[in-house]
Parts: sequence; C-alpha cells; structure tokens
Amino acid sequence: MEQNKFLENIDDLLIITDTNGKIIFCNKITLDKLGYTFEELKNKNITDIYSKKDTSFLIDNIHNKKANADSLYSLLILDKKGNFIELATSILYGIWNNSEVIIFISKKIQKQKAFENFKKLFNNKIIMMMIIDYSNLTILDANNAFLSKLELNRKEILNKNITELDLFNNSIDKNKMITSLKRIHNISDLNVEVTTKSGKTVYLIISGDLIDDKDKNLLLLVMLDISEQVILNKKLDTQRKQLINIIEGTELGTWEWDLVTNQTIFNEYWANMIGYTLKELEPTTIKTWEKFIHPDDKEETENILQKHFEKKISYYESEFRMKHKKGHWVWISAKGKVIEWSFDNKPLKMFGTHTDITQKKKFEAIIKENSIRDPLTNIYNRRYLDEQLKNLILENKRENNIFSVAILDIDFFKNINDNYGHLAGDFILQEFTKIIKSHIRPYDIFGRYGGEEFILILLHVGNNEMYEILNRILDFILQKDFIYNNEIIKLSFSAGMCDINEFLIPTVNQIYECIDKKLYIAKNNGRSLIIK
Ligand code: GH3
Ligand code: MG
Ligand code: MG
Repeated sequence: MEQNKFLENIDDLLIITDTNGKIIFCNKITLDKLGYTFEELKNKNITDIYSKKDTSFLIDNIHNKKANADSLYSLLILDKKGNFIELATSILYGIWNNSEVIIFISKKIQKQKAFENFKKLFNNKIIMMMIIDYSNLTILDANNAFLSKLELNRKEILNKNITELDLFNNSIDKNKMITSLKRIHNISDLNVEVTTKSGKTVYLIISGDLIDDKDKNLLLLVMLDISEQVILNKKLDTQRKQLINIIEGTELGTWEWDLVTNQTIFNEYWANMIGYTLKELEPTTIKTWEKFIHPDDKEETENILQKHFEKKISYYESEFRMKHKKGHWVWISAKGKVIEWSFDNKPLKMFGTHTDITQKKKFEAIIKENSIRDPLTNIYNRRYLDEQLKNLILENKRENNIFSVAILDIDFFKNINDNYGHLAGDFILQEFTKIIKSHIRPYDIFGRYGGEEFILILLHVGNNEMYEILNRILDFILQKDFIYNNEIIKLSFSAGMCDINEFLIPTVNQIYECIDKKLYIAKNNGRSLIIK
C-alpha cells in the first residue's frame, strides 16, 4: 500500500507489466495523461498502447531484458482518443509484490525540450535571471548576465537568502522586494535600485514567476537593466522642472503642436495674453491660433514655419499681432522648434513659446519715429530722406515707378535771423513746413535736409507736374504774411528739381548733385525761382 502511494505521487508516467508485457499497474498521472481508466488498461499488453513502429522494440526488450537502465528511449504512446504522445521512456526490470516485473517510466519529451530551451535562455547575455527556492528564498542559481552586471561570482550568492544579500541601495527597495516576494503574483515590473560590488548604481526592472519543478517551489526572477532610461528620464525630469520654473517666472505662453492631429496644447499664460482663460478656448487645435492672428501677419509667419519644416532654418521665430478679447491687437513674439521628426523628415511635434511684446513694440515705434524726425519741424530728417530715396530708386528699377525730387532753400534766411531774432527764424521754419505739407499728399515725402533747406519727393509725379506744384507753392508763400511778434515777415524760396527719368543709373548722390546744381542756378538768377 505504502509503495503504491509513493508511485502515485511521482511526477512521471509509470506503467508496470509482468514479464510478458501485460499491464498490472498504472499511476494516476498515466491515466490522466492518456484518458483511460485503470479497468480499461488492466490486462492489456504494453504493445497495445504504444505505436506499431515501437512494437518489435518493446517485444525484444520484454523478452530479452535488453534495455539499458540509464537510457531514455523516445517512444510514441497512444492515448484513448488515438493521439500519439512522444515520451522519453526508461525501461527497468525489477521485483514488485514478489514478482518479476518490467517498469516503464516516461517523461514528457516536451518538458525536456522546454528545459533545454530554458537552459539556452538562461545563458543569454542580456536578460538577467535568478532561480530561487521559494520555500526559503535561497538562491539556487543566477546566470552570467546577472553575475557580471552586479560584479559577483556564483559562489558568493549560491544558497544565500536573497533578502539578506547586500544588494539594495535603500531600505524602501529592499522592503518592496520582500513584500513582492511574499506575493509572487506581484513581482511584475518591479523597479529597484541595486549596487554592484564596486559601488555602481544599477536600476533593474524585475519580474518573477513560479516554475514547475518536482518537489521544490522554484521562483524564476527575470531582470532587465534600465539604468540608461532611468538616468535619461531623471535628466529630462530636471530639465522639465527647470523649464517650468522659467516659464512660471517669465510668464511665457507655451504651445505644443501635434502636426499629425493638429491638436495643440496651450498653457494658461498663452490664453491670458489675449484676454482669455484656457478653459474658454478649449478644445484647442492649431485653428485656435489661426483664429486670433492678424490676417496681415499670417502669411509671413506661415512662410517662416514652412522654412523651419524644410530645415532651412534651425528654429522658428516670428512676431505677429493677435486679437485680444477686448478687441485691440497684442504683439506676440513666437519662438519654437520641431521636437519630433518622422523617418522621412516630416515634422511631427513642435514646441514653442509666446511673449507679449506690445509694450516693446510701442517703445520701438516711438524710438523709430524720433530717429527719423527733425525735432524742430517734426518732418523727416536727412537720414530718413536718404533711406527713402534709396528704396525708391530700387523700386524704380523693379517696377519703373516714377517720382520727382526737389531741394527747397529759403532765400536770405540769414536776414530773418538777423532782423527778427533766432526764434523768429525757428517760427518761420515751422510755418514754412506746414505750408508745404498742406500742398502735398500724405504719401509724398517731405523732410529737412539741413538748416533752411528741405527735400520734397513727389511719388508718381514727373518733372513738369512737380514744376507746376512747386510754382503754386511759391506763389502761395510770396503772398503770405508771416506774423511774428506783431511784425510781418515776407518770404521766398528757390528750388532745384529733377525726376528719376533724367538718370540712366540713378543713385542718391547723383540726384542730390543734380538738384543742388539747379538750386545754385536759381540762386544766381535772382532767387524766388524754380529750376527744372
Ligand atoms: P541764400 O538765399 O543764399 O540761401 O541765403 P541764406 O541766408 O538763406 O543762406 P545761408 O546759408 O547764408 O544762411 C542760412 C542760415 O540759416 C544760417 C543759419 O544760422 C540759419 N539756420 C540754420 N538752421 C537754423 C535753425 O534751426 N533755426 C534758425 N533760426 N536758423 C537756422
Ligand atoms: Mg542754404
Ligand atoms: Mg537760404
């Protein structure tokens, strides 16, 4: 009885026959595996349940006792449903219940193969593995990948309790490991920090599972070194935190644009800049931005974006106006960069910032105005005149736009200063300016060349027409009484003029030289005169 109990408990398939091959015992595993009841097998011959190809081999072994006790024979056994199962079988001859018997002990070949595969896997160089006796948590084996990563040799850890090894960097990780070990199903993707023998920190991700073995609970731990990712993530995390600090500190608006879905994430500052809360704008896509940008600024900004997408410029930078909730325009400086490209160089994701530069733009405009205007008369100064003339010459080259230029010089101005004082002179300069301005169109260009000399540029106007206009102005001035401190001051001016068509290859200097020469002629011919 005791013997039977033992036989019932072994993991292998066990069949016992008499010396003729007649089945007298099968253990439960065999019956389960093959699907027979013992009644069905009892008294059958062993050759009945093996494949035909094995029959002669079996008969030979039964009668001649040829089988080698240490050999495993690969035999095909037939289950009740008629399927063959390949088993590694050893054949032994012995005594059972005082009779000579033949014992067939079979292991499933698949299991053996699985074991061999496992051995191969165990020897792989990247994935670290460890086998633990789960009953007492001692280490039975560890592969070379594990040993070399932690700079250990096998002897140092064999039969040691895993929780007593001086592996873990901190007690939290050690506790995590112990708790997980207590509930094996919890060892999946456990992150722990361990120290190598030389003190290096290695980040591991551990999974574990019980593997089937005869009478021990074997726990297989599989570990991957994820140090690189962890270190990279930590770095990214600090960078992200630094960035967030910068953004909070400078009140930068941020945007993250998924170019595949056009989904765009803005932060609260982005929305606040144009008078909204983020909630009011949600759900947000790139269309949200398009809705608020000034139509005159859209094309240029999109061109800059396009250049960045074609990698012609390494980042995107643009200034544009956006409509505020209250209706006015806000100047925005936008900067950004594609942070993810597809394999064929298409932009996938872009990150950028917005800064409100309305105030800066206002100051710039004031500075620009001041830099191009004459403080006494508030008309353009010499620098602006030169610049405009240069642009007009270029435009004329491209589009053949005609324009005329004149120099106007007040006659005997020195006398006014001398007779009525310098302030009277200043007053005359201001009044003279107003009169000229009232005779020209807003887009004509009028500026002070220096002292009592002025330059007038009339756009889309040729020589004759300008000549007429100047004479009309001269007539007006001749008739005008300038009154300063109750005294009447009379005034005249002389002018030299030309139009752009007089030059083959015009330059700013050539134009000035030409009109100066003509002014000189006017002065020499009695003044109060216009020479074309
Ligand atoms: P002409 O008919 O030959 O042009 O004689 P003019 O006296 O007008 O010319 P000139 O070049 O001899 O004198 C110009 C004077 O203009 C000399 C200078 O003191 C005066 N002047 C230049 N700038 C200013 C200014 O901003 N305010 C005043 N009040 N006078 C100025
Ligand atoms: Mg002069
Ligand atoms: Mg003068």
